[in-house]
Amino acid sequence: MGSPERIRNVARRVARWKAQGHQLVVVVSAMSGETNRLIALARDVSPQPDGRELDVMISTGEQVTIALLAMALKDIGVEARSYTGGQVKVLTDATYTKARILHIDESNMRRDLDKGTVVIVAGFQGVDEDGNITTLGRGGSDTSGVALAAALKAEECQIYTDVDGVYTTDPRIVPEARKLERVTFEEMLELASLGSKVLQIRSVEFAGKYKVKLRVLSSLEEEGKETSGTLITFEEDKNMEQPIISGIAFNRDEAKLTVLGVPDRPGIAYQILGPIAENNIDVDMIIQNVGHDGTTDFSFTVNRGDYARTRTMLEEQICPAVGARAINGDNKICKVSAVGVGMRSHPGVASKMFRTLAEEGINIQMISTSEIKISVVVDEKYLELAVRVLHRAFGLDQAP
Ligand code: ASP
Ligand code: MG
Repeated sequence: MGSPERIRNVARRVARWKAQGHQLVVVVSAMSGETNRLIALARDVSPQPDGRELDVMISTGEQVTIALLAMALKDIGVEARSYTGGQVKVLTDATYTKARILHIDESNMRRDLDKGTVVIVAGFQGVDEDGNITTLGRGGSDTSGVALAAALKAEECQIYTDVDGVYTTDPRIVPEARKLERVTFEEMLELASLGSKVLQIRSVEFAGKYKVKLRVLSSLEEEGKETSGTLITFEEDKNMEQPIISGIAFNRDEAKLTVLGVPDRPGIAYQILGPIAENNIDVDMIIQNVGHDGTTDFSFTVNRGDYARTRTMLEEQICPAVGARAINGDNKICKVSAVGVGMRSHPGVASKMFRTLAEEGINIQMISTSEIKISVVVDEKYLELAVRVLHRAFGLDQAP
């Protein structure tokens, strides 16, 4: 929803779907840059804006675009009606700026749909039990769209973004990256949480939980030249031959901490990580070495933004309490992962990954695996090289 022309464009696209006989609910986000502008304005007035008032304010971006889209539709002869989150009503909890959806009342939307009216709903917003306006966190209109699709048991939820689908890796790093026709929910969750910021991760979790068929498409394509985007589907729906690896994901935003010479006894992991979790710091990879002489080393990763705070906690509080010898840290690391449901049935993915990195002289600092993912931590300076060589090694630059 970048400009008046783009909004008219969306209206024409909606009109075409409507002409094909579909009932449509269109969830819109704000005009691009608008939410950022509103947040900046709030901070200009108040450095730590009150959450309730911030939500009253930043929800207005979507209130503008629902009305504009409804106007544009009516101008081309399509009956349409706009709704704020509260008018629908999208009931959320009362956690301002990151509320969770609790329930969606479909009755207003159903009534309009049955009359052949296109329903336009403001994304990103809801109301709590007392009628206070809430917002769902940045990028939250993705989650609004999926939640409405789930509530209405829609055939498909199409998310239009500024990319035309989900890629095998970031095309800015690997120009040969290909768009995936299909990806499973599990893969998408890994790809989304590992930094391919195509969709808000909560929207993918929601879609997986409520079995909403999701498709990512480009909002920028010209009329008549649209592609079919990427379908995010369920593994059991995939009857085609599964590629072993679907994508290479990465995250630059990582830091590593090591506690050295920790007494090797029960309760140590809890004593180190418990206080960190209590401070709402997300810990990702964890490694405890084999003990020797009654002590061991314990390493874990956190978001880079939490590095300094975690280090201070370790130095001042945790290390003295557990009797550790020293701590080490590195905030210039990154995580690179190979993701694919096909690796469940194909051994040898890990060794291929390690060999490929070794051939480039890239040292692996940490490893973690799940059924559908192998992640390594490497020095940040090798990020692009690692992604490129792995993308090639797993044949992702070639059509399947
Ligand atoms: N307008 C909101 C934001 O910028 C919601 C969204 O775009 O999904 O975060
Ligand atoms: Mg968005």
